[in-house]
This record gives sequence, structure tokens and C-alpha cells, in this order.
Amino acid sequence: MSNLSGVSAFSRVTETKHVKLLILGSGPAGLSAALYAARAELAPIVLTGIDLGGQAALTYTIENYPGFPEGVGGMQLGELFQKQAERFGARVEFDTAQSVDLSSRPFKVVTDNGVYAAEALIVSTGARPNHLNISGETELTGRGVSYCATCDGAFFKEKKVIVVGGGDSALEEGLFLTRYASSVTVIHRRDGLRAGAILQKRAFDHPKMKFIWNTVVTEVVGQEKVEAVRLKNVQTGKESVFLTEGLFIFIGNTPNTQMFEGQVKLEKGYIKVDDRMNTSVPGVFAAGEVADAHFRQVITSAGMGAAAAIEATYFLERETG
Ligand code: NAP
Repeated sequence: MSNLSGVSAFSRVTETKHVKLLILGSGPAGLSAALYAARAELAPIVLTGIDLGGQAALTYTIENYPGFPEGVGGMQLGELFQKQAERFGARVEFDTAQSVDLSSRPFKVVTDNGVYAAEALIVSTGARPNHLNISGETELTGRGVSYCATCDGAFFKEKKVIVVGGGDSALEEGLFLTRYASSVTVIHRRDGLRAGAILQKRAFDHPKMKFIWNTVVTEVVGQEKVEAVRLKNVQTGKESVFLTEGLFIFIGNTPNTQMFEGQVKLEKGYIKVDDRMNTSVPGVFAAGEVADAHFRQVITSAGMGAAAAIEATYFLERETG
């Protein structure tokens, strides 16, 4: 994706670059941390990761971030976050961390473009969408299988599409798809939704939204592109085929923590933090969805980012004066 403004694209780090504070990830947590750290004159560097603006930037409209009574585009909000952080001296680099060594300070971070040595680190690497792991899913991703309605919805004008999942994402993205699709059928493995009440009401009231309960998708069928999906009712065992060109999957997320395994304490895959965003390694802080299995909101991620930066500031004052 994307287009956050003024990212210093592909600036090359040819030798180890020493920084006070390095922030991994450019979602609401990373950019809020950058704002606070920049105002504390830590000259933070933000490595964007592959997904500029994080998952929030893929959201068409964010209606629950205070200060925007009419809602705000996810990408637009990310750009505003970045602009505000840069105004105080944060630098945003289009670069991705590949490995970290947190065994001693300064922490070593090897990226696509070079090596950083950081006195403190804020990890805000976010999460990625879960897959169903069924036959045809990987092969037809980008050819009818999608994990992002905002990115791909417009390809499905007047088509019948399917959404898998029963959470907020499934309904929010499903409702977004009604702009284009002739119908949006939500396939859910139970007979009750996990999504919040407002979204449920909107979805049930929408003439294009349909629901198939107690059902899972067992296979994606198609040669060059999605042509149909196989369904199975989990109560009766009855199998059926549903003709569709679009399968949108929203069944939760997995935190991006592979690089930190064995280096900081994880809990159920998420980085474990205390109430001050400290990880198990002094000087390494974590914020946003990589450390939050529960709230996963733009506002809570932004708050965690601010808290992590405040604590990183205290840490650096204590350790380096
Ligand atoms: P989620 O709340 O974890 O929901 C995942 C859904 O996928 C559940 O309904 C689950 O079914 C279903 N599911 C999981 N694995 C499956 C599988 N293998 N096959 C079929 N179905 C499967 O995930 P989410 O909707 O992405 O939301 C993540 C977090 O972000 C939540 O905290 C949510 O509140 C938040 N969020 C908020 C907003 C908003 O406030 N507007 C928007 C988007 C997301 P079960 O229900 O049976 O477990």
C-alpha cells in the first residue's frame, strides 16, 4: 500500500547508525510514540515496516477516533500523525527491521538498508491478518481472495462477494463492500456475532447484507481467479458450493513478533508489557497491537505509543543522563 507523505524513501544506512531511540512500525502506536519522543528531543527514528501507517491505514473510515466527528480516513489519519511527529523532529524512514539483538545495549537492529544501534527501542510492529489455511486460499490471494476491503473492494462492482468472520472487522469491511458488490454474504462458524451492537444493527438492516450461520469455508475453487467456495455446515455436516468471485477473510490477527522470540517475554504470541509498556528487557518498550491482545483500537494503540515514549524518555534520562 500507500502513500504517507514525505517518508524519506530508501535512504541508505551504510554504517551502523547510533540513535537514542528507534521505533519499529508506523501505525498509530509508532507514530504517537514518535510525536512524544520528538517533543522530548530524542530525535527518534521510525522504521515504517512494509505497511506504512499499519493496519489502521487500510481502514476506509475511522469513526471512533476522537476529534473527528464526521470520521476520518485511515490513511489520512496516519498522514496527520506523521506530519505532527515530524514537526517536532521525528524522522520516518521507509525501511524494515529484519533482525534484532537485544542481549545488550545499545540494541542492534539490522534492517533492509543497514544497521542501527539504539539506546532504547519501542516495538510497535502491529499484527497481520489470519488466514483460513484452506486449499486454494494462497494460490488465489490477489485473484479474488483478499484480506482488505478498502484495497480490493472496487474490483467487485455488482458481484456477489463473501465475507468470513463474525467480529467487528468482518461487519465493518462487509458494510464497506456493499458500496460495490451486489450482495455481501457473511459466513460465520457460529450463530451469533462477536461484533459490537452498532455494527450488528447496521449489518442486519442493510438490504445487501446476508448471513449464513454455523458454516465454514472448506475450499476456494478456481483456476485463474476465484469462481466458488465450498461450504460446510458445522452442525449438520451438509456441504454446498457457493458461486462467488470474491472471498474476503476477517478472522482476527496475529502479532508480528517472530523477530523477538527468545529475546523478550511473549504471552500467547504477544509481547508482554507491564502498565508502563516495559518489556522483559530494560530499555525495550512495546506498544499497540503487538502487545495488546484485547483492545486493538487506534486510540488505545496511540495511547500505548505515547506511554512507551514517556517511559523511554525517563529510561534514557536515567541511563544516559
Ligand atoms: P476478532 O474480534 O478476533 O473476530 C474474529 C472472528 O473470526 C470471530 O467471529 C471468529 O469466530 C472468527 N474466526 C476466527 N478464526 C476462524 C476460523 N478459522 N474460521 C472461521 N472463523 C473464524 O477479530 P476482528 O474482527 O479482526 O477484530 C479484532 C479486534 O479489533 C477486536 O478487538 C475488535 O473489536 C477490533 N476492531 C474494532 C473495530 C471498531 O471498533 N470499529 C473495527 C475492527 C476491529 P468466533 O466469534 O466464533 O470466535
